[in-house]
Parts: sequence; C-alpha cells; structure tokens
Amino acid sequence: RPYVVGLTGGIGSGKTAVSDKFAELGIDIIDADIIARQVVEPGTPALKAITEHFGAAVIDADGRLDRAALRQRIFSDEQRRQWLNKLLHPAIRLAMQEAIHQSRSPYCILAVPLLIENGLDGMVNRVLVVDCPEHIQLERALARDGSTEQTIRGIMASQASREQRLAKADDVIDNSGPLSAIAPQVLKLHQAYIEFSARL
Ligand code: ATP
Repeated sequence: RPYVVGLTGGIGSGKTAVSDKFAELGIDIIDADIIARQVVEPGTPALKAITEHFGAAVIDADGRLDRAALRQRIFSDEQRRQWLNKLLHPAIRLAMQEAIHQSRSPYCILAVPLLIENGLDGMVNRVLVVDCPEHIQLERALARDGSTEQTIRGIMASQASREQRLAKADDVIDNSGPLSAIAPQVLKLHQAYIEFSARL
C-alpha cells in the first residue's frame, strides 16, 4: 500500500508550483481536478446518470459534459447540488484510490484543493499544506486568472480559512517568499516522506 501525502492549500497558494517540484523528484502526483474531469468523460456511468437526471441540455455538441450548463442547473438548488455530490464524490474517491494503487514511486502526492473542506484528509497518511498570507494568495490569483478581486475573494470565502487548514496540517510549506524558496523545503520533506514510507 503506497504512502500518500495529501497536498492542499487555498486558491493561488502555490499547490501547482509545489507539486511540480515533487514531480521533478520522480514522485507520482495524483491530481483531484484531473480525476474529477475523468469520471464524467463520455462513456462513464457518472455522465450517463447526469444526463438522465438533468437532461440532454447538459451535454455539448461533442458529447461532453457542458459544465456551465450543469452549474446553472445546480446554482441555487441545494437538492440538485446534493444529488450531484452524492454521485460524484464516491466516483472521484474510487478513482483516486485506483490511481494511488497504480503508483510506483516511494510515496505519492494526492493534490486536492478541497482536501479539508471535503473531509478527504482521512484518505491520506499525511497532510501537507501550502501556506501564504491571504493578501498574497489574492495578489497571485489575480495576476494569473484575470478574474476580478470580488470573484477571488468569493472563492476564498467558500474555502477553509488559513487557520482551519493549518490546524489540519502535519507539514507546511511556506510560500510567502520567492519561487526559489520552494525547492529546498520540498527536498527536506521528500527525504522525510521516504523515511516514513519505508517504515510503513
Ligand atoms: P489554484 O488552486 O488557484 O489553481 P495553486 O495553489 O495551484 O492555485 P499556483 O498555480 O501554483 O497555485 O500559483 C498561483 C500563481 O502564483 C501562479 O501564477 C504561480 O506562478 C504564482 N506563484 C506561486 N508561487 C509563487 C511565489 N513564491 N512567488 C511568486 N509567484 C508565485
């Protein structure tokens, strides 16, 4: 059974910058965002169930899930949202477990933006939080996305707070400094994780 490190952090905190460094060290990265898209690809049981529940209007001309159309249908409809979560969350969890099982690196990283919010911290051996002050998160997300400050602030408000996340952290990468400060922190954790996984 592979040793699993859950990597999380708020919008713009630097999760991708950090997971890129682990990948350079040969560590398998399992990305929850990619898995969440894979479970609703054409031909999947989840997409079939969604089509039956919401109608063909949520499928685009290529037979793919029209996320904007689906979002409109669950927006401000708590029952529909719950139905969708009850379908997707177990499917995503199962696909993550399969990916973990396939991993052959000394340990693997499960990158999940909403690890704590969705209670997935029970799936991992260790929680690694990428942390920086909220004003820096906002600044970096703004520079990257071209979204408005209001949109980013809305997303931040819907996510766990910095304090909630840090309370669940076994390890923290401080990403308040320059990009060059990430690699040495990753290397130190990498060495620790190899030891932990060998003891498992
Ligand atoms: P999201 O969950 O919003 O996709 P993320 O946590 O994966 O974000 P990144 O994409 O890694 O965050 O970083 C957000 C932006 O900030 C990117 O444009 C990235 O290049 C930049 N960035 C990350 N870390 C630093 C840093 N230490 N100094 C300067 N810019 C940084």
